[in-house]
Amino acid sequence: MERKQVIRIFRSVVKELGIEGVKIRITPMKRKVASFSFKTKTLRLNSNIIDLLNEEQLKFIIFHELIHFKVRDVNHGSKFHEELEKYYDKEKTEQIELEIIKSLISTFS
Ligand SMILES: [Zn+2]
Repeated sequence: MERKQVIRIFRSVVKELGIEGVKIRITPMKRKVASFSFKTKTLRLNSNIIDLLNEEQLKFIIFHELIHFKVRDVNHGSKFHEELEKYYDKEKTEQIELEIIKSLISTFS
């Protein structure tokens, strides 16, 4: 997927979550799919994966990272899950996470 398209997804998620002042950086990362820095309010997305995942999968990853910002919590506690479940129920979350893992594994095996 083109960077432009990823940025478009990022903007739509920002709008949907009703948050402000966050940025995205698409850059190579060694060990992570994505991360969020509270210090710089920047979502880092691994550029190596954007061609491996589809729009739904990338949107989910962006959602996940921005929910950390929205609930002001770096962990995956109850506040995090409550917020995520407003958009993705548990079943959907499990399904997408599994698909993401499968897509990434098949590329490296
Ligand atoms: Zn997380």
